Amino acid sequence: MRDNKWLSDLLSDLWDRYFFDVEKGNILEVKFSRVARTRLGSIRMTRDKRKSVVLINGVFKDPLIPAEVVEAVLAHELVHYVHGFCSPLKRQYRHPHRGGVVRNEMIRRGLVHQYRVEKAWTKKSFREIARTHGLFHHFL
Ligand SMILES: [Zn+2]
Repeated sequence: MRDNKWLSDLLSDLWDRYFFDVEKGNILEVKFSRVARTRLGSIRMTRDKRKSVVLINGVFKDPLIPAEVVEAVLAHELVHYVHGFCSPLKRQYRHPHRGGVVRNEMIRRGLVHQYRVEKAWTKKSFREIARTHGLFHHFL
């Protein structure tokens, strides 16, 4: 079952496989947020900087969505963390996305498969999934 424990385990797994060279600067957590139409995931840091929290769109609890998609969404947020956005690590870029820095980092770290599956899925399926979850009739 995809719950917050599943997400935490996924974070540990991804970190060990793809981000093991990075020293975490604070407590890093992940949990599901509500189902939302626009954002697949997000990251924020507490004001005292002691904790960073990744939020993953609740739509991804659906087991029919390929796990690679969730991995890619989580990895995307971990890249922001590594780049010093919403984390206590040194800021590496002026802007979190400009210049394809997230894509480049994912590819560099061996996450190209997840990246591609997520991009293809998002393009094709996100609106459909959102609709079948019955939440966004007014928008679609
Ligand atoms: Zn991003």
